[in-house]
Amino acid sequence: IFSQVQEAAPIEVFNLVKLFNEDNNPSKVNLSVGAYRTEEGKPYYIPVVKKAEELVLQDTVNHEYLPILGFEPFTKAASQLLLGDIIKRQEEGTIFGVQSISGSGALRVGGEFLVKHLNCTTFYYSTPTWENHHLVFMNSGFKEAKTYRYWDEEKRSIDCNGLYEDLLNAPEHSVIILHGCAHNPTGLDLTEEQWKKVAEIMKERELIPFFDNAYQGFASGDVEKDAWSVRYFLDQGFEFLCSQSFSKNVGLYNERAGNLTFVLNSVDKIKAVKSQVTMIVRGMYSNPPNHGARIVSTILNNDELKKEWLDTLKIMTNRIKNMRKVLRENLEELGTIGKWNHVTNQTGMFSYTGLSASHVDYIQEKYHIYMLRSGRINICGLNMNNIKYVAEAITDALKN
Ligand code: PMP
Repeated sequence: IFSQVQEAAPIEVFNLVKLFNEDNNPSKVNLSVGAYRTEEGKPYYIPVVKKAEELVLQDTVNHEYLPILGFEPFTKAASQLLLGDIIKRQEEGTIFGVQSISGSGALRVGGEFLVKHLNCTTFYYSTPTWENHHLVFMNSGFKEAKTYRYWDEEKRSIDCNGLYEDLLNAPEHSVIILHGCAHNPTGLDLTEEQWKKVAEIMKERELIPFFDNAYQGFASGDVEKDAWSVRYFLDQGFEFLCSQSFSKNVGLYNERAGNLTFVLNSVDKIKAVKSQVTMIVRGMYSNPPNHGARIVSTILNNDELKKEWLDTLKIMTNRIKNMRKVLRENLEELGTIGKWNHVTNQTGMFSYTGLSASHVDYIQEKYHIYMLRSGRINICGLNMNNIKYVAEAITDALKN
């Protein structure tokens, strides 16, 4: 029965992690996967997460199923972290969250809802975007994937006019995937003025916003600031969906803790919407996992733990900012071909370096430094022990 199955191409980022793990070269550096690393190059088990986890274990008396839409203290706190002071609207019921299998699962459930119940057929994502958007939304049932311009290769900045033009030409009711902050992979976010223009066009063209918020706190170090774009759309009266991930900002990658927020403008349809999301979840995985959501809920619903988490986020983002600065300094000192100000202008985990696929291949082969062939590097993989080596490798690649 399996005779006609064809092998699919490997997933680039997971394949790079495998190659990196198998590489015995002592100088090897992993700048591929989007995961935080400490100054020692190690994964980070955030201390407040450990504390919260102990509390969760103490409280656990059984492993009964969670409700289909998830653990409410978690979804409420998560939606509130995203949208700010929305308790009244949560009570009225016009905003609600659905616990999801992290950010990816929120996108998948939200995508399927839009196709099945709003009859959406077309979605747009930025060029470039997170490589999984295409697959997740196509698997949700959309008929057509389209792109809007974002990265200006020559200027190494955002192609705003291209972006506006593409949105203006998008058919009504197209779903527009917007990175709330810390755009992956470019590390470039719109300014407030630019967001306002995007909102204006989207309102005029009746486009449907689907925010993807996988890095709240990782752009500026401040969760409130990083939520500006989403909250602006809320203030402007949009109805929209927003996915949230706690993989990066709480370091819960493999616990799959996420939330999908629905924002509606009236209560009339809330019951219907909730019931249909329930059906989607029920038919996909029946109900969500407990552990990660409990950890996040314990942190967000406790002032002391939340403060500790927010402080840690600042420490993590400061380390990233410092690595950007040091990388740029090293590249400039080495007289590396090209300009490197984009490295410090970008935010979040990633830098879109401008290196070509052949540069990336050269660097991997000669220096055992692993990065995506788009030239995206995870800045978190840098530390004071490897940063000069990485800068030298980039300098060498650009000479060849
Ligand atoms: N959206 C973007 C833009 C991402 O970069 C990621 C993680 N790489 C996700 C969503 C989803 O991540 P997760 O499923 O781990 O929450």
